[in-house]
Amino acid sequence: MRNKRILVIGAGMGGLSAALKLAINGFDVTVVERGHRPGGKLREQHVGEQSFYTGPTVLTMPWVFEEIFAEAGASLTERVTLHKADILARHAWSLDERLDLFADQERSAEAIAVFAGPAEADGYRRFTQHAKRVFNALEGPFIRSTQPTPLSIFGRFGWSGIGELTRIKAVFTLWQALGGYFKDQRLRQLFGRYSTYVGASPYLAPATLMLVADVESRGVYAVDGGIHRLPEALAALAEEKGVTLRYGEQVSEILVEGGRAAGIRLETGERLSADAVIYNADASAIGEGLFGDGVKKAVPRIPPAKRSHSVVTWNLLAKPAGFPMQYHNVFFPPDYAPEFKAIFDELRLPLDPTVYICAQDRGNPNAPAPVDPERLLVMVNAPARGDTQTITEQEIRRCEARVMSLLAHCGLTLEQSQEIAVTTPAYFEKAYPASGGAVFGRVTHGLFGSFDRPGNTSKIPGLYLAGGSVHPGPGIPMAAISGRIAATTLLSQFG
Ligand SMILES: Cc1cc2nc3c(=O)[nH]c(=O)nc-3n(C[C@H](O)[C@H](O)[C@H](O)COP(=O)(O)OP(=O)(O)OC[C@H]3O[C@@H](n4cnc5c(N)ncnc54)[C@H](O)[C@@H]3O)c2cc1C
Repeated sequence: MRNKRILVIGAGMGGLSAALKLAINGFDVTVVERGHRPGGKLREQHVGEQSFYTGPTVLTMPWVFEEIFAEAGASLTERVTLHKADILARHAWSLDERLDLFADQERSAEAIAVFAGPAEADGYRRFTQHAKRVFNALEGPFIRSTQPTPLSIFGRFGWSGIGELTRIKAVFTLWQALGGYFKDQRLRQLFGRYSTYVGASPYLAPATLMLVADVESRGVYAVDGGIHRLPEALAALAEEKGVTLRYGEQVSEILVEGGRAAGIRLETGERLSADAVIYNADASAIGEGLFGDGVKKAVPRIPPAKRSHSVVTWNLLAKPAGFPMQYHNVFFPPDYAPEFKAIFDELRLPLDPTVYICAQDRGNPNAPAPVDPERLLVMVNAPARGDTQTITEQEIRRCEARVMSLLAHCGLTLEQSQEIAVTTPAYFEKAYPASGGAVFGRVTHGLFGSFDRPGNTSKIPGLYLAGGSVHPGPGIPMAAISGRIAATTLLSQFG
């Protein structure tokens, strides 16, 4: 296959995973990346000597990366140091309403019993069993499968499996399903928040997203030195296996000849020809025609109403006081529904958003807690309209004031706080054009929401899709799986 040339557009997790798999199968692979580093959304913002997270912080499913490295004859743990969290996240509603979730589920059940009573703890035990069942039921037929459809899932389960699909509550929304386990609205909020891991509302997302609880119980990790170390290690391994990485080069067109993807044109005008192209940028950009008319119809356009949500983030250097920070911290407002009404119906920043803070210097549970001002990534959810709406400075400051007031209500004050950077949906739209700033692709709402995402092949032969905006969906491991599915499909089509 050395004479078969594959071009990969984008060095995100999907693009890198696809490139590596193709290279070890003998293809001549070149990755063209607009940025100057690998990892796409796993990038950091550099200010002076320090770097700050701007994207993902929660790393799960390490076995996906172990497989990827092992397949290339390397070891993930020899190249990247992962720290497993004992405390998955610290949650707070007020000064005296705090709840930790632990990697050890029985410890979490005990914490829930103290927080909300023994009946809720039993609800949690039932919930985690169901979450496991959902993950086991869907990992093969959906997550790792090429282009699943409701019919293919049905075919896999058969008539006898209908009971199983009902038992895993595939027909409910996440919020409805959670009502079957928890009476305490705070616990419904906590576990409903898992829908936001794919940019969806818990009131509209399918209950199958409860599988996130099972994924987290299998381990939540921080990467030593920063999350970008993972794509850096993957890119280094890909180069060792013969992949050429071209950074700082923007692809402006995907070329089609004789009805097949035949190469790319760079912004500089340079043309590169190929036997196939793997596309790892946001799928919405193809449908909007940003990669040329030849491929515009290769992927359906994603209408703004079908976008997942975006985020507003603040990078701060500050000394947290009054609240024992963990690596992951979540602060909830008393009323959850208005947040999602604001984001998905009213298309505005929520007045009282849930606040997530990653204390990025606390990823290693065995290291002492920082004493000097530390790096904090503060994040709230926002509508994905960065292409048509500007969130004004005044709106940002108003939101910031509400965020600080919720933190203070929960006992946390940020002393010596220095704002390093603020990112809004417009920033993410610029970084991922045609997405409106939606950082998780098409939204997973409704019974069949998970099937609406583009698959890993396209309507143009020779053009394959990889990344968080296509099947099986967003998230670091999912994007990596997506790259592997795209590469496997390409391999089978090239015999
Ligand atoms: C704020 C935020 C928080 C998140 N939190 C988490 C989390 O905690 N845990 C988790 O698992 N996931 C999280 N995610 C989601 C996760 O980061 C993504 O789903 C995943 O990284 C997407 O990978 P990808 O393969 O789609 O590539 P992307 O990361 O989207 O990268 C695509 C690459 O393509 C390049 N590119 C685009 N256009 C061109 C062009 N024309 N020419 C050349 N190159 C181009 C881009 O520069 C980029 O490097 C988060 C995302 C964001 C933004």
